[in-house]
Amino acid sequence: MRFNVLLLLVLIPLAARAGIVFDFQYGAGANYWTDSSKAALNSAANTLADYLIVSSPVTLTFDVTGYSSNDGTLASAGSSISTASGFNKTTAQRKIQTGIDQNGTTADGTINWNFYHNWDTDDSISAGYYDFKAVAMHELLHAFGFLSLISSAPSHTQTYWSAFDDFVVDSNGNAAVSNGTYLWDTSYNTNLTGGNGGLYFGGPNAVAAFGGLVPLYTPSPWSSGSSVAHLDTTYFTGANKKLMNHAVSTGPSIRTLSAIELGILQDLGYMLAESSLVSASVPEPSTWLMSLVTAGGIVVVLLRRRRLAKK
Ligand SMILES: [Zn+2]
Repeated sequence: MRFNVLLLLVLIPLAARAGIVFDFQYGAGANYWTDSSKAALNSAANTLADYLIVSSPVTLTFDVTGYSSNDGTLASAGSSISTASGFNKTTAQRKIQTGIDQNGTTADGTINWNFYHNWDTDDSISAGYYDFKAVAMHELLHAFGFLSLISSAPSHTQTYWSAFDDFVVDSNGNAAVSNGTYLWDTSYNTNLTGGNGGLYFGGPNAVAAFGGLVPLYTPSPWSSGSSVAHLDTTYFTGANKKLMNHAVSTGPSIRTLSAIELGILQDLGYMLAESSLVSASVPEPSTWLMSLVTAGGIVVVLLRRRRLAKK
């Protein structure tokens, strides 16, 4: 009897932590993935999972690929979104929050890593190396729904958007996409590149955490894959850098979610773990490229992170 009681005490915390399990399936370019980079990806994913609570255990599957190319892309990740009218969750986001798998046996997300660059996969990042775990956390958060379907010139007819887009507002808090018609208001085209004060995230939890509308990255000219779907790198600088800034440089980077980013996750429908509610912040720079491929009523969103230009 005594043995059984002790066993329970051990098992309960283990079960709670296992609310979100990641199943990374290594495909093309699997030869680039070492045991240490695989372990770092797992570690980053589990760090994110620890911020969240799920109502029932869920396993997220990701197709993981690797390559080596001398370009500015560090890594990319993606998750699909329905093209039904409205503000839609990514497949990964919906599965975490509801347990519903909207794309069946297809992987819930994809990760593609560029091993051309120098990666440091442990917790002591050497000079000249990119922080693998930080970049992985950033990319996974895009797959979790920290992304936008707003393009450089949103069409007059597009009516499907990300859940994130539901909270994209101007400096006065007015929505850029109508909550009734789901149409982009073209009077905000100037804001896309920083005009009229640019664009902000106006979700109530994020606003409460920040103390106002949260500035989004809206550089001029428009930067595909960076604009709108990141925190404003020109605003969150120095000690205020955030994980979801648009670009990352070498050296130690941000591996924690700020109160703002946690608020955004709440606005996106996530339940935060109790420990997250008092969590502090810090970030990193990155850039991602978004490309859309429509197939069978589902948009595949790919987010690419780029290295910060060397100065
Ligand atoms: Zn990004």
